[in-house]
Amino acid sequence: MSRSLCEKCQFVLADCICDQLQSVNNQIHVVVLQHRSEENNAKNTIRLAKLLYKRITVLTGDNSDDFSELNSLPLATTALLYPGEDAETLENTSTDLNLTHLIVLDGTWKKANKLFFTIDILKQLRQVSFAQLPDNRYHLRKANRSDSLSSLEAIAYALFCKEALPMAPAYSALDAMMENQFKYMPAEVRARYKSK
Ligand SMILES: [Zn+2]
Repeated sequence: MSRSLCEKCQFVLADCICDQLQSVNNQIHVVVLQHRSEENNAKNTIRLAKLLYKRITVLTGDNSDDFSELNSLPLATTALLYPGEDAETLENTSTDLNLTHLIVLDGTWKKANKLFFTIDILKQLRQVSFAQLPDNRYHLRKANRSDSLSSLEAIAYALFCKEALPMAPAYSALDAMMENQFKYMPAEVRARYKSK
């Protein structure tokens, strides 16, 4: 009985974080592309993003056919969050960038790149990225690049830039998830994270 999971947040009932989840009424529809190998990663922050954002779709797969839904997106108003050379910065409010859909590649930089090169339609999209990053609050997951954010933080920051939506709901959810993970770490490992 003690192993029963909360139907919503999927943590064991004793660790349920639902009372710390605030929903966010985003207008730009977030479309997350996730490599199949990330799907069941317990530390994956997309699971939280799905609980917070009103308009979010997660597509999981490992080949172009798995992501064929992307072909129905309006090309002119869809952007890919990807730090390419010609990417427009989301902080730049003077741009005419009118977004209805924002595509986010989940997972490590290596996995994200794999998706980018696998899915042809992504190369036709305008790219957006960040001029500067908010502090990376989520240290549990070893990032491949020092400046990379968890997917949830990237979504929260992008929506902050484009819609002035608060980032607090994302941080509260991440903090709650981290607290749950700390609980089951040996004390010496926990101390290493907390000292950051
Ligand atoms: Zn819950």
